[in-house]
Amino acid sequence: MTIPLLRSDLGEGLLACFTGRELDRAAPEVGDAGNLAHRRPHRPADLAAARREVADAIGVPTDAWHLMHQVHGPQVGIVDEATTAGAELREVDAIVTRQAGRALVVQVADCVPVLLGGDRAIAAVHAGRAGVATGVLARTLEELESLGQPVAALSAVVGPAIGGCCYEVPERMRDELADRVPEARATTRWGTPSLDLPAAVGAQLAAAGVTEVRQLGLCTFEDERFFSHRRDAAGGRQVGIVYRGRAS
Ligand SMILES: [Zn+2]
Repeated sequence: MTIPLLRSDLGEGLLACFTGRELDRAAPEVGDAGNLAHRRPHRPADLAAARREVADAIGVPTDAWHLMHQVHGPQVGIVDEATTAGAELREVDAIVTRQAGRALVVQVADCVPVLLGGDRAIAAVHAGRAGVATGVLARTLEELESLGQPVAALSAVVGPAIGGCCYEVPERMRDELADRVPEARATTRWGTPSLDLPAAVGAQLAAAGVTEVRQLGLCTFEDERFFSHRRDAAGGRQVGIVYRGRAS
């Protein structure tokens, strides 16, 4: 397999990357090769092989990966010295840690994966429409502050997600979110109401004091290198991973 891997720079000693789908030339718009998430129908051997491939590529074994059982809420999980290596965190949409040697993993297919890093702590966030509305990013930044990580010294990268160009929603749904986060208001390429969640996330981070926010600007619905729930509801999920290596 060759799962696409996009690396981002969040600062010294930090690894930040996003995976993608492996394209099947015969049917480039569908398929789930490169799926990194549990889902149905579930083929454990494929999933294990895909995770191993990414683990080898980034040099972080899968037993150091902390995934989330994501529920589109604002709860933040904390990985600390008491957390079992590789444990999945239940019913959270963000994870923070101060610990080196722990990979924080967010699973997505259109929702916005956000990776944050600073000298003291790191975070991985799943920000969909509900997460943007309920403030999962603000909660995450609060937890990072409480771990001793100043928000102003954080770098953030907003990964591949469905863009305002394609995320069509009913007008009332657009207005509801845009009333809270004006940057979410958008129009599709074909002229109908839409939401720009990456822009909304960027605005929320900036408003909270994160000065370095990088937008990858890759639309999962249009770019077949990525899974998109809207394009192929039966497809898989890519992941975003943030990790601080242990000092050697
Ligand atoms: Zn698009």
